[in-house]
Parts: sequence; structure tokens; C-alpha cells
Amino acid sequence: MTEGPTAKAKAVIVKRMVGDEVVTEAIMRSGRSNIDVGNLVGLRLDYADAYGKNILFVFGDYMVRTHLMMYGTIHIYDFDESLTKPESKMRLMLIFESKKVVIYNAPIVEIDYKWRILDKLKRTLGVDPLRDDWSVEKAVMLIRRHGDRKIGDVLLDQRVIAGIGNILRNEILFRAKIHPERLVKDLSQKEVERIARYAWELSWEFFRRKIERKRIAPLLMVYNKARKPCPRCGRPIRLYYQKPNGRKTFVCDYCQR
Ligand SMILES: [Zn+2]
Repeated sequence: MTEGPTAKAKAVIVKRMVGDEVVTEAIMRSGRSNIDVGNLVGLRLDYADAYGKNILFVFGDYMVRTHLMMYGTIHIYDFDESLTKPESKMRLMLIFESKKVVIYNAPIVEIDYKWRILDKLKRTLGVDPLRDDWSVEKAVMLIRRHGDRKIGDVLLDQRVIAGIGNILRNEILFRAKIHPERLVKDLSQKEVERIARYAWELSWEFFRRKIERKRIAPLLMVYNKARKPCPRCGRPIRLYYQKPNGRKTFVCDYCQR
């Protein structure tokens, strides 16, 4: 599962690899395109970024958006290298002067005007810890809108903090010492701020490791550590599936209150 930091790291790595090369050929197998994919030919990748879990590639006025969900991947090949996956899995291939960028299996590949895609994302996503317009105040305000929901559930909601996935939400709540079952309306102002700060801090820590192609395992204190001792108090970490999201939830019932 690609969370925000992984999406942003992938975007940055693609830009690093293709540099200022221009697109010489663009092939789209399936997906939504409001513009002719051929319009990308002759353009260079101006920048690549993420917004929540969406990966965005900007070519002049146009944007390619992809969301990898569970099975999507992006491969970068040298120009003369052959593809490592069957062509039937290919969604989009962008051929640059010396590189080929191929998106496989991604459920969402969209090409459109940049403004239209950004407009839609801004309307549907919350604040993103890895973007310039992040602020703790905005994050707190968006969390507060969901008073009757559990904080563990609200953190997965992309309309609140964009880019948080299951790994991050477990690690954020452990660090903030907040139990995932608590209702937002029962959290103090300080507690919600603490959650927002850790969302920012941990997203950047994940991103920095991903960009250096390092594993995030050393950052994980509770995720996938069922029955292992809590790094704070030594009591066993408990795994359960939280309702209503049904996601794996790791908690120290002693440290997280
Ligand atoms: Zn503990």
C-alpha cells in the first residue's frame, strides 16, 4: 500500500531519473484522459510530486495523475531495456530520450489539464503533511469536524489528513499516546495537536528514508508487532481489527489512553 510519503518519494525519484528529457512517445492503454495523450510528446517533466496518495507528473499545462492503490507500480527502464512485466499489465508508458517510465496495474491513471486535476484534489482531500500548505491548525480543524467518530478511523479519512495510511496512523497514535478507539469529541485540544504534529513529523521521516531507498522498518514501533513487547512499557502489543474500517490496529492498551 502506497502511503503519502511513498507516493512523494516515487515522484521525486522519477524526476531525478528523467531529468530534463522530453517525452518522445506516450502510450496509454487504459485510463481516463480528457486530453490526447499525444499532447505530452515534446514536453519535459517540469516537476513530479504527490498529493495525499496520488502521484502527479506535470508537463506544461498538463498533468498525469496516478493512484497505485494495492497493486500498482511505477518502473523506470533504460531506453533499450525490455519491459519486465507483461504488456497487458501496462497502463501508461512515457518514453523519454534515454528512459522509459511505465505505470503497471494502477487502478487510476488520469491525464488532464493541471488546473482541473488540482482543483478536484483540493476539493476532495484534506491537508497533506508533505505539502507547503500544511498547518497544524488546519489539520486540527479538519479532525474536529468528525467529533462522533473514533480518532483511529478519522486518521484514515483522506478528506482529513491526506496521505495517511494504515502504517502511519498506527505509528502516529502510538507516539501521541492516544488510543485509536477514543472519540474525537473526547480528545483535548493538546491531544489533537499532538496527533497533527506527529502526522507531520512521521510523514517526513518516512519520506526521507524512502527517498534514500532505505527500509522504514526501524521507524516502526507497533505496526505488525502483535504480542511483541511495547517499546515503552514492555507489555504486549495487541492486534485487533478496528470498526468500522476493518483495518489492522496495533495498540498498547496501557500507554495509549
Ligand atoms: Zn506500552
